[in-house]
Amino acid sequence: MSNEYDVVVIGSGPAGYVAAIRCAQLGFKTACIEKWLTKDDKTVFGGTCLNVGCIPSKALLDSSHKFMDAQNHFEVHGISVGKVAIDVPAMIARKDKVVDQLTSGIKGLFTANKVDGIAGTGKVTGPNKVVVTDKDGKQQELAAKHIIIAAGSVPIDIPPTPIDHETIVDSTGALEFQEVPKRLGVIGAGVIGLELGSVWARLGAKVTVLEALDDFLPMVDRQIAKESMKILSKQDLDIKMGSRVTGSKLSKGAKKSVTVEYSDKDGEQTEVFDKLIVAVGRRPFTDSLLDESVGVELDDRGFVKVNDQCATNIPSIYAVGDVVRGPMLAHKGMEEGVMVAERLADKKTQVNYDLVPSVIYTHPEIAWVGKSEEELKAEGVEINIGVFPFVASGRALAANDADGMVKLIADAKTDRILGCHIIGASAADLLQQIVIAMEFSASAEDIGLTMFSHPALSEAVHEAALAANGHAIHIGNRKRRK
Ligand code: FAD
Ligand code: NAD
Repeated sequence: MSNEYDVVVIGSGPAGYVAAIRCAQLGFKTACIEKWLTKDDKTVFGGTCLNVGCIPSKALLDSSHKFMDAQNHFEVHGISVGKVAIDVPAMIARKDKVVDQLTSGIKGLFTANKVDGIAGTGKVTGPNKVVVTDKDGKQQELAAKHIIIAAGSVPIDIPPTPIDHETIVDSTGALEFQEVPKRLGVIGAGVIGLELGSVWARLGAKVTVLEALDDFLPMVDRQIAKESMKILSKQDLDIKMGSRVTGSKLSKGAKKSVTVEYSDKDGEQTEVFDKLIVAVGRRPFTDSLLDESVGVELDDRGFVKVNDQCATNIPSIYAVGDVVRGPMLAHKGMEEGVMVAERLADKKTQVNYDLVPSVIYTHPEIAWVGKSEEELKAEGVEINIGVFPFVASGRALAANDADGMVKLIADAKTDRILGCHIIGASAADLLQQIVIAMEFSASAEDIGLTMFSHPALSEAVHEAALAANGHAIHIGNRKRRK
């Protein structure tokens, strides 16, 4: 294998592997370096997303949802299944199998696209040079016309609750419990806290979520956030807002527990948990990645500094995904990977950062794109709002899954769609049609004039668009217009 490449990508998470594949498709000789090792010391591609992020968390969310459905929701359909039991090790083993299948798939895609997957830790030692050190300490130097940094992110630790990987765990540890903890504490009512808290609550854990902020899901449209809090609180998730964790004490003895100290509006509090998940955000990972002499600039929070095209201050070096500014989402990193590859091939590809969809995979799902009602009002934009509750959707009622609503916001002068916010079953998939519509600058009327299959959950999106212009059919309209 020659050590000279057109492109060397460091990191094989969604940002890195997609960048590498697209580069190879465009005719660049490409290598992708990965340091991730499995428990049995094998290099594995796919990064956080495939190994300990999006995929394993959704596998457990799907398993636990089926358990909850069988336990609580079958009877109403006239189905009795007797006593429903959960085999946690089997559930975790299934999750591991899904992960294996997908990470092996990346290896296959590298082979099919002629990307050289290289095992080891990459360090940028010059504008066109990367040194790779493998797990046995053996080094090789790669020459690269272009380097793409896709080193991702890792969980943030906080001093009051040091991770011991047994009783106090991060998101990775929370995907590995071998039994359902009786009392589960979660620090952080963010995306991970709500998703992984939901998994274990559905399986029978008594879950308490401690969140420092007073506002629940501050990045979400207020009406949707309020509805989410109402729905999630009914699911054995005790979400305590305004609760800042200040300390913790591990018990001694064989069966460990942890006493968490926190302060809220009533003063100092304590609570005892069998397991504690710390989910207070993630930080960019640049440890041992950059030789200082190269001069790649980081910002004050440790992200690699890039422009809108993901170029760093060094002309041959780019950075994509969680290691750069913007939401830490797999799809955002993938699109950045494609953009950089295509720009290296002299195409004019851009990422539309205004239209990054976000989803929280609770049940019901919470999904949004564009601006919230509050953001638009603060900007002084005149808006029309259409809201359609799933309780008025024939399909949602047929499925006995009618919590939530679709909220669509359009510019009052031009009718252009400015945002869509959904809490409901399959919200992620429902939202995508509006992401596409917004990418084409569609108006609420465009959606209203489109024919939707009946009966389908997506009719709620149709009706919300009609409601924005005052003529929804299946609900009363806030304002009626011709
Ligand atoms: P990563 O996936 O973190 O990959 C970076 C890779 O680079 C890693 O494999 C790392 O080992 C490697 N690396 C780092 N430094 C070096 C080096 N010096 N040499 C060689 N290799 C190196 N996002 C979503 O969009 N949807 C979801 O549903 C979702 N769920 C999530 C659930 C959980 C529990 C977590 C933790 C995250 C979730 N995310 C989700 C976020 C998503 O995982 C990240 O946004 C995404 O993985 C970022 O991709 P990336 O390629 O930038 O980095
Ligand atoms: P987050 O930023 O979503 O939530 C962290 C929460 O912890 C915040 O609400 C914060 O106020 C709170 N917090 C911080 N310090 C605290 C303290 N001392 N005490 C109590 N609360 C405290 O971060 P996360 O949930 O860890 O997720 C990390 C990243 O991973 C996110 O940026 C997210 O985009 C990504 N992710 C995405 C998905 C998805 O797309 N479905 C799923 C999981 C993770």
